[in-house]
Amino acid sequence: MSTTPRGTHTPGLIAPGATIGFLGGGQLGRMTAYAARAMGYDIHVLDPEAQCASRPVASRTITARFDDVEAAIALAEQCDVVTLEIEQIHPDVLDAVAARVPLRPGRDAVYIIQDRIRQKTWLAREGFPLGAFVAAQSAADIADAVRTHGACIAKSTHGGYDGRGQVRLSTPEEAAGAWDALGARPCLVEQRVDIAFEISVLVARRPGGACAVYPPSRNHHTSGVLTWAVLPAVISDELTARAQALAQGIAERLGVVGLLAVECFVTTSGELLVNELAPRPHNTYHHSERGLVTSQFEQLVRAVCDLPLGGTGIAKPAAIANLLGDVWLTATPPEVTGALEVPDTRLHLYGKAGARAGRKMGHLSAVGDSAQDALGRVLQAYRTLSPGTTHMFDVHEPVLAHLTR
Ligand code: ATP
Ligand code: MG
Repeated sequence: MSTTPRGTHTPGLIAPGATIGFLGGGQLGRMTAYAARAMGYDIHVLDPEAQCASRPVASRTITARFDDVEAAIALAEQCDVVTLEIEQIHPDVLDAVAARVPLRPGRDAVYIIQDRIRQKTWLAREGFPLGAFVAAQSAADIADAVRTHGACIAKSTHGGYDGRGQVRLSTPEEAAGAWDALGARPCLVEQRVDIAFEISVLVARRPGGACAVYPPSRNHHTSGVLTWAVLPAVISDELTARAQALAQGIAERLGVVGLLAVECFVTTSGELLVNELAPRPHNTYHHSERGLVTSQFEQLVRAVCDLPLGGTGIAKPAAIANLLGDVWLTATPPEVTGALEVPDTRLHLYGKAGARAGRKMGHLSAVGDSAQDALGRVLQAYRTLSPGTTHMFDVHEPVLAHLTR
């Protein structure tokens, strides 16, 4: 473990030169590690996959599962602070790390968030606005939920992402199939919300409680997977303020140190509801590298090292489009020249071997003079790169017309 250099005046500050440990070595860790490297930090990573996306950016990679306490201790012992890029870390690992070194975000916030039932129950108890939900202990509970609430989505409590571990159902007769599909284990059943559009808000918080709240991002999902995100969200100032206050309130109540992303639904009747929380960098803020004064990755480094938080102002409207493995299945490697000819567009690849349908392999980003312009560019680049999979975006064309600011 390196020591904090003498002469620093902020107690607890973890100065450049120190080592940041990451639980998880996926693309979120990789992009944060690049930002940390740029600021002079060393990076150690623990991930179950030896060839994880962060490996090339880390000076030490420990290959171990997220329930391996010994391996986590080995990580913590050589780091000055440990953060995470995935919430599915065994509580014993969180405890073992936190006993040795600052763990940011802390154990309690991660523990609440990592279980969907626990997370929704906590949000409800704290009075945050949510759609109707039921903690189902049996197929009969799921059937009852559908009888009471109509069309629902049943979600596994752990490990779901990108729409995995979810079953949509419209009738009570489908409950038994949903229960089996989710492993015959307790699950969260949510009423299917009438969504007008989706936004997210990212909050950064330092150990002393200082917060920086980002402008909302407007996000589009296809079959439960994020396809694009754009900034600004082109929503009213009133909704912006309400969403930011909501997200900051949750971050403070949870005591998050680091980042908290709050995914929200705006319903067709204008309600703002929390969908779910993520205590880490978030796919919907990848455009922060292009459009915002401080990227989410740099901000995470600042927050966990107790450095002053960076500004969250919009430097330029920006958008991203995800590149899923489907693109590689059409053409390997994808032909990127045309995409990069689109003005102010960039390619971000995560260095993952093994493209699979639905697997996030990278993203495209673009800036423009307006949200519409940035999104138009990134979708144009996407079409050039992958004409075979544009069905993932065609359905969203009408949305462009609304992004007129
Ligand atoms: P990700 O990892 O991409 O954030 P996830 O697998 O954690 O996704 P959710 O955020 O729960 O899953 O759901 C993915 C998407 O499915 C949402 O962004 C939304 O488009 C849709 N969805 C989820 N829950 C509901 C709901 N209760 N009503 C209507 N749509 C929903
Ligand atoms: Mg989500």
